[in-house]
Amino acid sequence: MSRAREKSLKTKAYRIMRLYILFSILVSAVLFSPHVDASQVKFGSLCSGNPSNSKRGCDTKYGCGNYGASRDSGKRKHMGLDIVCADGATVYAPFDVKLNGKATPYKKDNAINNGISLSGEGLCFKLFYIKPDSYSGTLKKGQKIGTMLPMQKVYPGITSHVHVQMCDKSDPTKYF
Ligand code: ZN
Repeated sequence: MSRAREKSLKTKAYRIMRLYILFSILVSAVLFSPHVDASQVKFGSLCSGNPSNSKRGCDTKYGCGNYGASRDSGKRKHMGLDIVCADGATVYAPFDVKLNGKATPYKKDNAINNGISLSGEGLCFKLFYIKPDSYSGTLKKGQKIGTMLPMQKVYPGITSHVHVQMCDKSDPTKYF
């Protein structure tokens, strides 16, 4: 084999090897990148006394707790999901979260008009009817966010609950 031919073969081999290495890097980057699929996220326990996140059903006087339930005789819809939580119970971080400030359900103030905006696991959501211990910072899953407010004082006989609402008002049910 001529020197020139040998050299050109070597160059070709190097080129193929280089391509192969680049390709391997690309493939591993795709395969092992930490891809967050938010649709797979599940909420951990939100409230003491309700470890399985039982959802509020329907109350004779106040309607139902599912997303899309009728409110004000059909004039509006329930834009969140209600998770059973007794007055005074401890509310926990359902996963590692960042606290993004106060969020209130009503324009007119009452005894349960408090809550918090949160983000974590690629989700942005609000929890209503709780008194947070803090409105900023971060919490690990299972750490205390705050305390369930006295809902029975405002709606006697209702199934007391935390209201979970996504920031974009989409249906949170798939996360439970
Ligand atoms: Zn609700």
